[in-house]
Amino acid sequence: MSIEYEKDWRRIVLYGRNTASYKFALARALLKISADTQGEVSMEELALPFSKEITRHIGICDTQSTNANSQFLNACRAYNQGEVDDEHLLDRALHLGFKNVIGAFHYVDSGNVQTQFFDDQRKIKGKLVLTDEFYVLASSIQKSNLLEEVEARWRLVEAAWALKLPSRLLNVDYNNEKQELFIQTRLRRVNLTSARSALDGYQMGRCFYCRTPIQVLGEGSAHSEVDHFFPWVLMKRGFDINLDLLWNLVLACKDCNRGSSGKFERIPARKYLKRLHHRNEALIKSHKPLRETLMNLSGPHSADREIFINEVYKTALDYMNPNPWTVDEVEVL
Ligand SMILES: [Zn+2]
Repeated sequence: MSIEYEKDWRRIVLYGRNTASYKFALARALLKISADTQGEVSMEELALPFSKEITRHIGICDTQSTNANSQFLNACRAYNQGEVDDEHLLDRALHLGFKNVIGAFHYVDSGNVQTQFFDDQRKIKGKLVLTDEFYVLASSIQKSNLLEEVEARWRLVEAAWALKLPSRLLNVDYNNEKQELFIQTRLRRVNLTSARSALDGYQMGRCFYCRTPIQVLGEGSAHSEVDHFFPWVLMKRGFDINLDLLWNLVLACKDCNRGSSGKFERIPARKYLKRLHHRNEALIKSHKPLRETLMNLSGPHSADREIFINEVYKTALDYMNPNPWTVDEVEVL
């Protein structure tokens, strides 16, 4: 069942609507302290790890809420300026920081996700009781991916808030050399996050093609690689569509990307096109800024976007010998 827990956790992180970044801070703090907890965590124990996630992010991007006036965020700013100490920050988190985030944590779309990762027992015990489901997640091989995914989603959301661009100008670009996402405004380039961290959650931490678990961090055999679904080489051959954009980027394991029977510069079999469409629709379910990026490029409706990638597929075969690549898949339990 751990796959269901992973799905629900990722729904919270990727699809929850946010008016402040507190949910991301709570998600990261819980994962980070999980090894030091035994079934429960007091609000005092949680307050500093939670707050320091936010102070760290304020150091990257000052906009951490859609509401400009937040006493808690002001306390975090004062902490970064050296004006207040840990004790004050902890006090402010206890009184202000947890106000809404605990109750809203599991809420996505129109209700709570099925899996509960903690039980709010603040009134009775002054604690959160962490569930077995949470510990399954926190001890799984996906833990490091989940931490990175929260971080990436957080960077995207805060940048979108800070830039305040109209939807038609909110486009996330990709730097192929650094494998990083960025937004180019008229005045500057805003670096966002690694493409691997940003895309991993939408593939459930698994290779897009063979479904084997992959890792965002590290350099081992499970290390994920950014693959251009439609190979980059098409552009060299005069293909007139920018393939260096999110809709065309997936994460693959090393074997699928460039192993002995890897994909390399081939076009994947048509059956993967449907999967790419579903993956792109998952990106669109995330509100700012991935949604806007994909809609601006390939249309406002799902049907438009499906036509778009089908047209690209048809045209791509004119540029390349039709030798569509495929691979065996592992079962995802
Ligand atoms: Zn693979």
